Amino acid sequence: MVRVDRKKVTALHRKILKWYENNRRPLLWRTTTDPYTILVSEIMLQQTQTSRVQEKLPLFLKKFPTLQKLASATKADVIRAWQGLGYNNRAIRLRELARVVVNDYQERLPSDIEKLQQLPGIGRYTAHAVVCFAFKKKVPVVDVNTQRVFSRIFWKMLDSSQMKGPDEVWHLAEKVLPRDVYPWNQALMDLGAVICTARHPLCTRCPVAELCSSRNWMIQHTGDLRRSNSPKEKSEPTYDGIPQRIWRGRIVEVLRNVNGKGSISMPYLGKAIKQTFTKRELLWLEDLVQMLQKDGIVERIKNNVMLAHE
Ligand code: SF4
Repeated sequence: MVRVDRKKVTALHRKILKWYENNRRPLLWRTTTDPYTILVSEIMLQQTQTSRVQEKLPLFLKKFPTLQKLASATKADVIRAWQGLGYNNRAIRLRELARVVVNDYQERLPSDIEKLQQLPGIGRYTAHAVVCFAFKKKVPVVDVNTQRVFSRIFWKMLDSSQMKGPDEVWHLAEKVLPRDVYPWNQALMDLGAVICTARHPLCTRCPVAELCSSRNWMIQHTGDLRRSNSPKEKSEPTYDGIPQRIWRGRIVEVLRNVNGKGSISMPYLGKAIKQTFTKRELLWLEDLVQMLQKDGIVERIKNNVMLAHE
């Protein structure tokens, strides 16, 4: 564990909070402390770009303004409202979560980290984010940006492969919390998203450059970093050169446009997602549909497929 220099930490607090005051991103979820809004935004942000969440969050909240409304919706309604956000199983888990909260917590999100982490779809990061940003509790919130910023400032980290492990960073984050945690946690995420980015850190514009353990090396070797740190292709299963994840997304997209409880046949679905689809590809399509069924996103009625309702 790194030794914490209190003077350095105080200077970090001052500089980062000052920078945030003048540079914060105007994000919708920073204008509220409503636990439900914060929760939905955090779930969306898990795997979707900030700009897309900015656009989709108000639409989702208009359709499901409360946990109760979400809990009483059908799966199909929630999947349709999730359109454009990707990774539809998050929508299913969010609805499950709403049902648990309505049934077990008198319709109010718990403000306790352990209880939150027991809810569907909530991990350490999301539980801490809800507790800090909605319930104003003094806890750290460490996303991947914060993890990288801390790793570079307190240790010497050149590329993402040298990033410190989450447990080590969470532990450090807990030790260096200032009094005013809300802006601090938001500021660290902004610093990582805008200045201390993974491949193009802007050390010459960084408010904490003089306090950073990685800065000198980083300035000398930024070119190497950009070359060595080129994103590695994720090895995910593909079909016809396209990730299976994308094919599954196409299936959901087609089913979203089927009205009400309507369903479509497997061959029709195949043609709708792939122009050159032939009967020989039915087994492949069957696998995709089964995965979506397992995630609770679609249902089968004999040889037809539809969005899950329940
Ligand atoms: Fe990141 Fe560079 Fe700032 Fe250090 S000086 S925190 S490496 S941007």
